[in-house]
Amino acid sequence: MTRRRWIADEVLGDRAALVGEHADHLVRVLRARVGQHFDIATGEAVRRGRITSVKNARVEFELGEEVSRAGLAETTLVLAVFKFDRMEWAIEKCTELGVSRIVPAIARRTGSHLAAASAKRVERWQRIARQAAEQSRRSTPPEIAAPVKVAEVLNFPEALRIVLAESEERTLLRDVVKPPVADGGVVLAVGPEGGWTEDELQLFRQAGWISASLGNTILRAETAAMAATAVVASALYSI
Ligand code: SAH
Repeated sequence: MTRRRWIADEVLGDRAALVGEHADHLVRVLRARVGQHFDIATGEAVRRGRITSVKNARVEFELGEEVSRAGLAETTLVLAVFKFDRMEWAIEKCTELGVSRIVPAIARRTGSHLAAASAKRVERWQRIARQAAEQSRRSTPPEIAAPVKVAEVLNFPEALRIVLAESEERTLLRDVVKPPVADGGVVLAVGPEGGWTEDELQLFRQAGWISASLGNTILRAETAAMAATAVVASALYSI
């Protein structure tokens, strides 16, 4: 049986707690009661949890045996900042598909108003990722980094680094992602609505990134992010 999974806010030995809004949701929407069982992700593992106390804005659990967890090899998504509603969709869906980290990047063609507003969006993106991670019964949500300039992501160390480009005519993503991959896992970079500029693609290539295609139709940025993550997931997913 798959139980509803929660990512703990506090963990101490065999005890864990959800606090604040997170606990409220469990209490109000799911009518949490002492004695009910849930799966609790502690950051290191997922364990069975039995509710031992329900108070305003705080639900406590006693933790039991470990539940096995499935996962995707370390996958980072560098996501150019684009229209927030579509970006949120990409964050939610790529979290479901198993990405471990999302790094929003300010690209040349990211609208200036979006770039300016992006730092304030991080908390909301983290909340979306966390809910999606729980929905997908992941043991941890992906890390959502603060937005950075493209220049700052170029030197990701020890990873298979791939920039997705609709102008790439020779290399398909599926041919680049073959296990086993480097220790640092895979890093995928998806451009904004207007695409990467030629200069940006040049910088990625000079820094050793491989440019790869998802096929010969032009995808919207959020579709490209999901499709690229799915290709990586299908190549590297382990049970
Ligand atoms: N400039 C383009 C659209 C860019 S799509 C145009 O309107 O003509 C936004 C981003 O999605 C791109 O920067 C790229 O990273 C990714 N993308 C879209 N389609 C792709 C494809 N077929 N192959 C690889 N990446 C793609």
